[in-house]
Amino acid sequence: MKLDLNIQPLNTWIKTGKEPLVIAGPCSAETEDQLVATAHLLANTGRVTALRAGIWKPRTRPGEFEGIGSIGLEWLKRAKAETGLPTTVEVATGKHVEEALKAGVDILWVGARSTVNPFTVQEIADALKGVDVPVMVKNPVNPDLSLWIGALERINNAGITKLAAIHRGFSSYEKTAFRNEPMWDIAIHLKTLAPNLPLICDPSHISGNRDLIGYISQKALDLDMQGLMIESHIDPSVAWTDAKQQVTPSALVDIIDRLTLRKPETRDAEVNDKLTELRNNIDKIDDLIIQKMAERMNIAEQIGNYKKDNNITILQINRWDEILNKRVNYGKALKLHPDFTEKLLELIHSESIRKQTEVMNKDVAGQAADKLHV
Ligand code: PEP
Ligand code: MN
Repeated sequence: MKLDLNIQPLNTWIKTGKEPLVIAGPCSAETEDQLVATAHLLANTGRVTALRAGIWKPRTRPGEFEGIGSIGLEWLKRAKAETGLPTTVEVATGKHVEEALKAGVDILWVGARSTVNPFTVQEIADALKGVDVPVMVKNPVNPDLSLWIGALERINNAGITKLAAIHRGFSSYEKTAFRNEPMWDIAIHLKTLAPNLPLICDPSHISGNRDLIGYISQKALDLDMQGLMIESHIDPSVAWTDAKQQVTPSALVDIIDRLTLRKPETRDAEVNDKLTELRNNIDKIDDLIIQKMAERMNIAEQIGNYKKDNNITILQINRWDEILNKRVNYGKALKLHPDFTEKLLELIHSESIRKQTEVMNKDVAGQAADKLHV
C-alpha cells in the first residue's frame, strides 16, 4: 500500500544541480560571528546548497545551552543576505513557525523530539496552514515508522506539499558505535511507501562522531537518498552543542570529495541488459525460495498432525538447536553471514510453529494463535 501524500519534487524548492545535495551549518547558532563566518566558509566551498542552524535547541537535560533564541533569526537573515544561501531552522512550536516565517527562513524542519509527539506536530501543522514553505520532517527518536508517517501526513494535510523526510537514526538503550542507530530498513520502508517523498540523510546525528560521517553519507547515497544534512562549524572543538560530530567547512569538502556518486539507473544498453539478466536470475531464485517455503510449511503441517496424534509438544528445543547450528555452519561454509542465516531460520521456524499450532489446536486457542501470528 502506498501513502497518499501530495508532494512536489525537491527541485521545486531547493537547487538540486549540485551532487550530492548538501545542507550544512552549525548544530546551533552561537554568536553572530560564528554563524556568519561559518556561512561564508560553507558558501565558498561551492558545495553547499542551504545553511542550517538550530536556534531553539531541544536539550535532553535542563541547564544546558537551549539555543540562542529569536535573535538568531536576525543572524540567519544576515548570513543569507551576505552568502545567498537559503536558510533552514528547526521549529518545535507554533510560535517558532510564526517567527521563522516572519524572519524569512526558507525551509523549516521538525526535529526528532517533536516528531514523536502528535500534539506538537499538530500545533506546528496548524501554524503552517495557508503557508507555502518547504518542511523537512526528521524521523522520531524511537524506531516507529507510523509516527514518522503520521507527522508527514499532519504537515501534508495542512497544505504543505514541499515536503521531505530526514533520516537521523533512532535512539537505542544499547550503546553502539552510533549515537543513533541508522536502522536503514525503516528509511527504506518509508521510501517504498512514499517513492515520491524526498529522503535526506543526517549522518551527523546518526554518527555522533565526525569520523563516521563519510561512511554513513556513502551508505545513504547508495540507498538513493536525495541529499545530506551535515553539521559544520567554523571551529568544532569549541562548539556549544554536538562538538564531537561537527566538521569544519574544509573537512566537509573532504567528506564530499570522497563520496562515490552512483546513479539509480543508466541508459547504457549493455549495462541494462546485463542487469536484466542478473535480475531474472534473482527472480527465478526468489520463486524457488517461495516454492520451497511452501513445501517446507506443508511438511511442518504434516508433522503437526503427527505430533497431535502422538501427543508430542510442538517445540523440542534440542531439535531446534540442531537445525540452527547445522544450518548456520553450513551457511558459513557457503559465505553467508551467520546473523543472516540465524534470522532467516528463526523466521521460518516461527512460521512452522504457527502452522503446527494451527493444526494441533483447531479450536479457540488455534484461532487466537492465528490472530496473534505466533
Ligand atoms: C539538530 O539537527 O541539531 C537536532 C537537534 O537534531 P535531531 O532532532 O535529529 O536530534
Ligand atoms: Mn545537533
